[in-house]
Amino acid sequence: LQSQHLDAPKIPKVYWDDIGGLDKLKKELLKTIEFPIKYPHLFKNSTLKRSGILLYGPPGCGKTLVAKAVSTELNVSFLSVKGPELLNMYIGQSEENVRKVFESARASSPCIVFLDELDALAPRRGAAGDSGGASDRVVSQLLAEVDGVTSGEDADTSNFVFIMGATNRPDLLEQSLLRPGRLDKLIYVGPYTGTQEKTSVLKALCRSYKLRPEVNLMNVAEALPERCTGADLMQVVSTARSAAVRGLVDKIKSGSLKESDLSPDSVVLGVSELWQGVESFRPSVT
Ligand code: ATP
Repeated sequence: LQSQHLDAPKIPKVYWDDIGGLDKLKKELLKTIEFPIKYPHLFKNSTLKRSGILLYGPPGCGKTLVAKAVSTELNVSFLSVKGPELLNMYIGQSEENVRKVFESARASSPCIVFLDELDALAPRRGAAGDSGGASDRVVSQLLAEVDGVTSGEDADTSNFVFIMGATNRPDLLEQSLLRPGRLDKLIYVGPYTGTQEKTSVLKALCRSYKLRPEVNLMNVAEALPERCTGADLMQVVSTARSAAVRGLVDKIKSGSLKESDLSPDSVVLGVSELWQGVESFRPSVT
């Protein structure tokens, strides 16, 4: 596995406050992952072991963001890989890549392994078409690793590895991966609906910018379609930010603002900037 494909696990810097909405999901995830990490002795010899969970839903709705925030908030390292990155045309190399991911996670435990685009790595067995069964071997290796992280009888924080899988297509997954003890908790992460929820996400996304006092993010949320992905909402805010930066550059050019007076705080989002964000909106869900 070439080193650029596998980043070393590290603790991310995504905090709950960076995430709008999803309150139920945050609680659910903490309950599922926090207890085994904080109180490993309570789970010793337990027959109720779980190696991970599966987040599913359309792209851009916050699966990756939430997985990172769980790691940050629990202070555990995070190893993120995309399923297709591990696949290799050479016989045996994909299995070896899967093995190395878990070896790396164990070496940095406690660790959360985020397996994005899991359906590419673990398609239903026998469904791989012309690939000559290579995929079946990859799935077997993955299942062995998944079982490996559950079977640690002497589980304690120093060898804690938890898997968070993510997919847009749970129906394409090898179903035995979802058996009890494996990724047996499925959580849907979908588009944000309703003014309240969209406003919470917009608030989180605007956290690092100054807003003019007359800005009401609820009005912005209301002007957007009923259902938006997080990526859609991010697009609105980043368009507003670009508009604010453009405004500053124009002022410098016209001489009404000195370049030396600029600071990151100079970027202030007002109603007109946010409106440009709303007008440029291109929905990714309908
Ligand atoms: P994919 O399936 O494509 O990997 P995903 O579900 O993992 O998508 P993320 O990468 O987590 O989606 O989200 C895309 C972007 O949308 C994030 O980088 C973030 O800027 C924004 N976003 C999504 N959900 C939220 C949220 N609840 N609060 C704030 N920002 C969000």
